[in-house]
Amino acid sequence: MVLHHNRNILDTPIEYLKGVGPKRGDILKKELRIFTFGDLLEHYPFRYIDKTQLHTVSAIDVNTSTVQLRGYISNIQLMGEARRKRLTAWLRDKTGRIQLVWFKGASYMKNYLQEGKEYLVYGKPNSFNRTFSLPHPELELIDNTQDVSLTNRIQPVYSSTDKLTRFNLDSRGIYRLIQTLFTKIQAKDLPENLPESVRKNYKLIPRFEAYKNIHLPANEASRKQAELRLKFEEFFFIQVKLVQKKNFRYHKLNGYVFPKLAEHFHGFYKKLPFELTGAQKRVLKEIRRDTLVGKQMNRLLQGDVGSGKTIVALMSMLMAIDSGFQACMMAPTELLAQQHLNSITQFVEGIGVKVDILTGSVKGRARRNLLEKLELGMIDILVGTHALIEDPVVFQNLGISVIDEQHRFGVAQRAKLWEKNDQPPHVLVMTATPIPRTLAMTVYGDLDVSVIDELPPGRKAIQTMHWRESKRLQMLGFLKKEIAQGRQVYIVYPLINESETLNYKDLMDGYESVQRAFPQPEYQISIVHGQMSGYAKDEEMMRFKNKETQIMVATTVIEVGVDVPNATVMVIESAERFGLAQLHQLRGRVGRGGNQSYCILMTGNKLSAEGRKRLATMVETTDGFKISEVDLQLRGPGNIEGTQQSGVLNLRIADIAKDNKLLQVARTAAAKVIEGDPKLEKPENQNLKQYLQSGANDEKSKWSRIS
Ligand code: ADP
Ligand code: MG
Repeated sequence: MVLHHNRNILDTPIEYLKGVGPKRGDILKKELRIFTFGDLLEHYPFRYIDKTQLHTVSAIDVNTSTVQLRGYISNIQLMGEARRKRLTAWLRDKTGRIQLVWFKGASYMKNYLQEGKEYLVYGKPNSFNRTFSLPHPELELIDNTQDVSLTNRIQPVYSSTDKLTRFNLDSRGIYRLIQTLFTKIQAKDLPENLPESVRKNYKLIPRFEAYKNIHLPANEASRKQAELRLKFEEFFFIQVKLVQKKNFRYHKLNGYVFPKLAEHFHGFYKKLPFELTGAQKRVLKEIRRDTLVGKQMNRLLQGDVGSGKTIVALMSMLMAIDSGFQACMMAPTELLAQQHLNSITQFVEGIGVKVDILTGSVKGRARRNLLEKLELGMIDILVGTHALIEDPVVFQNLGISVIDEQHRFGVAQRAKLWEKNDQPPHVLVMTATPIPRTLAMTVYGDLDVSVIDELPPGRKAIQTMHWRESKRLQMLGFLKKEIAQGRQVYIVYPLINESETLNYKDLMDGYESVQRAFPQPEYQISIVHGQMSGYAKDEEMMRFKNKETQIMVATTVIEVGVDVPNATVMVIESAERFGLAQLHQLRGRVGRGGNQSYCILMTGNKLSAEGRKRLATMVETTDGFKISEVDLQLRGPGNIEGTQQSGVLNLRIADIAKDNKLLQVARTAAAKVIEGDPKLEKPENQNLKQYLQSGANDEKSKWSRIS
């Protein structure tokens, strides 16, 4: 429950509200998780019926969604018989007339409707043969003498369920409960929880008023103000906690100092065959700064595929090694760990850095030897999978942990890295799945975020095409042309087994047709899928990497990190089945060498609107941040990896995709408050402090420690 004060009326169990009782109370708890008055108060309307406007009959057109009309009733007629009865009547205003129609409750309505009387009528017009009617309108009789006031006529609409409806708790029933609730509570029951300065600065209405007006607004303007205040508040408390946590870590947790850069770092830098990009240099400076101040670094490194994160990570590890520390790098799969090992080994050749690898398949004597060397400090960089965080792995002095592709690791797993030392190592989390800034601010709000927003020079932008089945021959011809030039290609399928109901290309079918189109011995084909053993997969990948095969037929197992610079075409079959992030990741497998690369998205003809948008976005841009922005808009935060623990999924009123500006504002406000008063000791922040301490909004934010 969000609202909380000692023995506050809002803690009262819901069954004690007049009109609820034990039975409905039970159902409210089960169906809507409304346990208390406070929970009901936070059951916000999801839309409103605006009856503050009056329309005219003549103004109704096909675009009219709902209307409110004022007019006189005539020609009441009951037609048909028994169960097929139908009641019609005319409503006439100054501009024309429209037919009102009832199919249900026709007889009842006939007795209720009064010929010649004036009514307010509200409903959704229906058009048939270019004439409009109003089926099942809401009606209000206007007393002849009374002048109708249209203020206070915005009606909230609440979500309900079938079961609740059976107990008279449809939207209207809940509305009645809300009205009752507001006869019981007062401003003192909802004490202000924002510092006065914040409220003033951002022109936010008082808390009680906000709750009242979100449910029972007098007009659209006051509803909007209420919404603003409640959305702000929701973001603000999340951000205060994140900023506090970050602050706490900064002030409380000591971190290793890497005092000098010496032969390893400089030796590597001198050997580097290319110039670092501006973004790489900037990020390295940020990391350098972090490792000099004696505080633990917790940094998220975001950068698109191929932006050169690995070099940055490696150079950060060399900073540690130059100061006598060890480093480790954790990858989500064995294949990727192996790949990191290979590239790191190449990069550090001749500069005296000892690199080794620990994965699940390092066993027996080899494993014991390795662990011993590690504990004795005879290994500088240990690359590996999650095997790195298994219990018996002891470092002599681990100074920095790099975690690649972090979304594959659980938060708890990351936290385990801390326990390797008395003092936590610096942590650099790398992700190649860019997430929108607003989301990063919340999901990783207590981390420092570095962004590599620049690709190494000379990269040719990957050309992306969206082709339908009719272009299949053209696609195959295209692949042949590329292969004839010595390039390699990927063909990726979404599923391993054919599903009968969904007519999607099955990998094995695909494999066969690829074999027919690319006959041996001219062509050699690799296949990799999730049901192969890790060993067989790696073997096949190596064959492809060594150019023994030209075509790699695969499922999404090749999504992450696989590096074959000679591959220039990525064909994605049934591309409509993939999410944007995945498409982007897959596309990132090509364009890694100097040659122009292509991504061909093959789809059927039938596409959903969302599917079309995804494909169009892919064709339009290769910018991972832009793509993630579209993804967030299309699917909401729930489908974006890493959001599960962040609390953004439990937002009650704010929307991280739609309210991104407000989130930024709330973040700034929170940072300012904490900066000026880190421990919330100042009198003006006492209400905020109390509110946070009350645990009032804990439910929505079961923050796991991201480390
Ligand atoms: P990421 O891990 O971000 O996907 P990598 O670190 O694997 O990217 O780099 C992709 C490729 O680009 C690698 O072959 C790497 O050696 C190369 N590379 C990295 N930085 C630069 C640079 N500044 N200039 C040229 N090539 C670079
Ligand atoms: Mg990489």
